[in-house]
Amino acid sequence: MTGLRLMAVHAHPDDESSKGAATTAKYAAEGNDVLVVTLTGGERGSILNPAMDTAGVLDRIEEVRREEMAEAARALGVRQQWLGFVDSGLPEGDPLPPLPEGSFALVPLEESTEALVRVVREFKPHVITTYDENGGYPHPDHIMCHTVSMAAYEAAGDPDRFPDAGAPWTPLKLYYDHGFSLSRVEIFAQEYERIGEPFPMQEWLDRSRKRAAEHGDIMGRVTTQVDCAKYFPQRDEALRAHATQIDPNGAFFAIPMEMQQRLWPTEEFELAKTRVRTELPETDLFAGIEDPQIEVADR
Ligand SMILES: [Zn+2]
Repeated sequence: MTGLRLMAVHAHPDDESSKGAATTAKYAAEGNDVLVVTLTGGERGSILNPAMDTAGVLDRIEEVRREEMAEAARALGVRQQWLGFVDSGLPEGDPLPPLPEGSFALVPLEESTEALVRVVREFKPHVITTYDENGGYPHPDHIMCHTVSMAAYEAAGDPDRFPDAGAPWTPLKLYYDHGFSLSRVEIFAQEYERIGEPFPMQEWLDRSRKRAAEHGDIMGRVTTQVDCAKYFPQRDEALRAHATQIDPNGAFFAIPMEMQQRLWPTEEFELAKTRVRTELPETDLFAGIEDPQIEVADR
């Protein structure tokens, strides 16, 4: 073991497999301690894989999602912990309906922050990953995941905050996951044009172009690209473990593995907070953090 610890904070079960998954598998395989923290149980996720949309599954969706999560964590080789909040669901309609009572996005920030601070102080991560201020996509739990992670990053090392939630621990870096860039999809589209085949992610490409025209491509914010192509198969295995959420015939699996590994072998992150000196761009989430074992030996 390297003695380094990475904590990936996610809103729902399955987010850890679609955002930065190969990176967590890589760091785990390389002897780092990796913990996925899942803030909600994903109770309000709809069934997105037609093959799994049966009454029996929907009746025990909470339990099914726990089983799926355990299998995904096994596939990635990481540890996983639930924080126990209740999925807010994705509100739809115009005007948007109010969020269901008791759901995660309505929990007072002090309460959710204390819960996450408790896990940070137990696990003692050097690096935390979470979502950007837009949540990556506008789900109220994703935006709250950002807000709570930022609050916990600041509070965990402060002995005056949440004194009953364990001994202070100061994480050193915090990143945002930025997996869904337009540049990545454009590169695949070009390759399909080159080989003269129809592009299987056209809808995704159109959506990404529209978003990038409005907000700019997220690649403009990326500071850190982690080479993790070797772990793409584990990422896909973890995605498939979330059988109710991920359609095996959907866009996530549309591009052949070999093509992904050849043309876009990295996952992308934005260094949002750091307490150590590091040089950008980076290729390692632990860049700038000295080997903690050497540090201990020196004392
Ligand atoms: Zn989610």
